[in-house]
Amino acid sequence: MDAEAKKRIYRLLIDKIEDQVARRLGEELKRTGLSLPRPAQAPGAKTLSPAADQASCSEPSCDRPARAKGLCSMHYQRQRYQDKKQTL
Ligand SMILES: [Zn+2]
Repeated sequence: MDAEAKKRIYRLLIDKIEDQVARRLGEELKRTGLSLPRPAQAPGAKTLSPAADQASCSEPSCDRPARAKGLCSMHYQRQRYQDKKQTL
């Protein structure tokens, strides 16, 4: 077996393991209700809008996690739809 083929196999195995670990971790987090600490930002890394990945939807009656512009995906879609209607 040549080196390239070995590399490919290793790559595949690593992908598979990473996939399983990620899935397992996700299940575990769901089960325990814990969340991962946010990964440290590399200096100079482009920062996302501050609370984008933590905040929940800014609609008062909605506690889904915010996806964009402080709104959950549902409310964001709704707002986008409304914006579109207004500009038309
Ligand atoms: Zn919402």
